[in-house]
Amino acid sequence: MPSANTHDFITILLVPPAVAAAYYFTADWTLTLIATGAMVFGGLMFGPDLDIQSRQYARWGPLRFLWWPYKAMLPHRSWLSHSILFGTLIRVVYFLVVVTLIVAVGLYVRDVYVNGQQWGAGELKGALARVWEIIAPIKRDYLIAAFAGLWVGASSHTVADVLGSFFKSVRKSI
Ligand SMILES: [Zn+2]
Repeated sequence: MPSANTHDFITILLVPPAVAAAYYFTADWTLTLIATGAMVFGGLMFGPDLDIQSRQYARWGPLRFLWWPYKAMLPHRSWLSHSILFGTLIRVVYFLVVVTLIVAVGLYVRDVYVNGQQWGAGELKGALARVWEIIAPIKRDYLIAAFAGLWVGASSHTVADVLGSFFKSVRKSI
């Protein structure tokens, strides 16, 4: 399997073609910047290896606890994390769910301990509404560009993993 250094190097190497491709498709520098930034983020921090104690995981620093359940639940290199089709989508959904739950806990603490209210089911609903309030006003194009970038960053990782394993097995067989 390629080392973390190799994966990082590939991500950086992909910046010029990503800029070229994004600008070719969008003819818009903002979208190009978002897509390329998301690609780098996807390669360095939002990639498949969050399913294991990895450099991507460590890069979240004090926030890495957000990925702890992901790492604990998924076997390393399972299709849920490393699939080119589903990996990024599952990570985005996972991340939104975790953020929503954290906001819900925050609302709960505020309601019960600060406002002295009874526990109700309203916190989860409120949290969903808050998270939606953040996402909804963002332009669709920006969200699509960000997702595409994340996807390319993560896919380059999976492709490198697969090629790495392939060449290893070829080397062994000759
Ligand atoms: Zn991997």
